[in-house]
Amino acid sequence: MPVQNILLYPHPILKKMARPVNRLDDEITGLVQDLIDTMREGPGSVGVAAPQIGVSLCVCVVDVSANRHGKENNHGLLVLVNPEIVEREGGAIMREGCMSVPDYTGDVERATRIRLRFRTADGSEQEIEASGFEAVAIQHEMDHLDGVLFLDRIVSLKTGLFRRKNYR
Ligand code: ZN
Repeated sequence: MPVQNILLYPHPILKKMARPVNRLDDEITGLVQDLIDTMREGPGSVGVAAPQIGVSLCVCVVDVSANRHGKENNHGLLVLVNPEIVEREGGAIMREGCMSVPDYTGDVERATRIRLRFRTADGSEQEIEASGFEAVAIQHEMDHLDGVLFLDRIVSLKTGLFRRKNYR
């Protein structure tokens, strides 16, 4: 399946709560592949959520293994269907970007360690613990499923929002 166009802020789908997936069928399999392809195509991208390609369902993918901040500590490619954070711990501020907000980056505070429950693409239930950059990326992608963008979480609009000339 092809790389999909990324919806840009302020597209209304980006502000909507996504629906949980009830049945893992071919449609979801195709969606997961589109998300992976789209993530791989995006420059420096470490994740994509279904609402970003116009599908309001609770599915996202994360892979920080190729990123310098994530390569030491990661689970490889994560396909997250109906993910839920069951524990969170710590807090740190990190600079974030988003393919849906290409002109800005911003400082956001996130938990540094999370325990996460989700279904994989084949329907099995999994629980993992993630920390550091991977935990941040997961929280960022899961926010998309709640209609929340990093812009909504900037620590300070005066000092925490940065314009960028081009997306790396
Ligand atoms: Zn994003």
